[in-house]
Amino acid sequence: MTDALEINVTKAERSKLKDLNLENIPFGKYFTDHMLEADYENGEWKNVEIKPYQPLLLEPSLSALHYGQAIFEGIKAYRSEDGDAFIFRPYDNFRRFNQSAERMNMPEIPEDIFIEGMKQLIDLDRNWIPAKPDHSLYIRPVMFSTDTTLGVKPSDTYKFLILLSPTGPYYAAPMKIAVEEKYTRAAPGGVGFSKNAGNYGGSMKAATDAKKLGYDQVLWTDAFEHKWLQEVGMMNVFFIINGLAVTPSLEEGTILAGVTRDSAIMLLKDMGFTVDERKISIDELTSAYSKGYLQEVFGTGTAATIAMIKELKYKDQVMEFEPANFKIAAELKNRMNAIKEGKAEDKYGWLIKI
Ligand code: PMP
Repeated sequence: MTDALEINVTKAERSKLKDLNLENIPFGKYFTDHMLEADYENGEWKNVEIKPYQPLLLEPSLSALHYGQAIFEGIKAYRSEDGDAFIFRPYDNFRRFNQSAERMNMPEIPEDIFIEGMKQLIDLDRNWIPAKPDHSLYIRPVMFSTDTTLGVKPSDTYKFLILLSPTGPYYAAPMKIAVEEKYTRAAPGGVGFSKNAGNYGGSMKAATDAKKLGYDQVLWTDAFEHKWLQEVGMMNVFFIINGLAVTPSLEEGTILAGVTRDSAIMLLKDMGFTVDERKISIDELTSAYSKGYLQEVFGTGTAATIAMIKELKYKDQVMEFEPANFKIAAELKNRMNAIKEGKAEDKYGWLIKI
């Protein structure tokens, strides 16, 4: 064990909270009074501080801007009915952050900065967690390279930040999804399993093209045959086929290991379902659909929890569903939200109290 983490705290003179109505606040638009900042130099993390949320002063030659060593995470904190604040599974995001760091040739962040720093920051901005149903505080840890040279090499210096953003209910309308056959999100040996900024930059064109055709997002397929299913937009994907839950396996490293995905697998098993993590192709899906076996299709992610899919288009085939009849997805969503809001037993220890 290391010594207790020393965090230098500078408090904001005036809270911006008074100027804001937290009800139905849009996602990612407003930030709390404080942020956490730490710097990596000479092989160690230093200058860990919590300070008023403010702009950064960066040089134009900042290596992250040119060569893309940048990773992030997305986590949520909730306020229970009796006023306690909880973070949902932050240790899982901590581990995933460091897996992303390793893949992007960046230094790992120590647990005390990520977890303890996050707790102290949230504690300071505790009043920003909206005390309303379906509202939460979105937590955004981010790390990027800060060397100021145009040489292409892993940076020697990095900055780590944690930002907090209150967020209202994410109304996930049932989605229309197009199976992607032109663009690729991830290939074996690539960076698909890491939460690096470039994965998001690289996926925008596919989503924009799909929107032009009336679809909300794409269902990503493998790089070689455009046949094996990966993820839906920025969510993991689940299918209920003839009473069995199926989700693409993580083995090839082309899929982000979602924390909601993992929670959904555990809860589906609790509900008595068998969950198959395996390769699944679009041909298997269209064949199951034509036989009437494809019952439910949904995405999982921190933002929406569970997002139902009402239409899947593949070539000239359109598969339609009635999300109002998605009994399994609805039950799963209720169970997950009840745990997050402290209304059901947290038997897996997912909530970390602040
Ligand atoms: N896939 C991608 C590409 C994502 O960005 C996300 C959101 N982090 C997910 C899946 C879902 O992951 P989680 O359940 O951890 O939010």
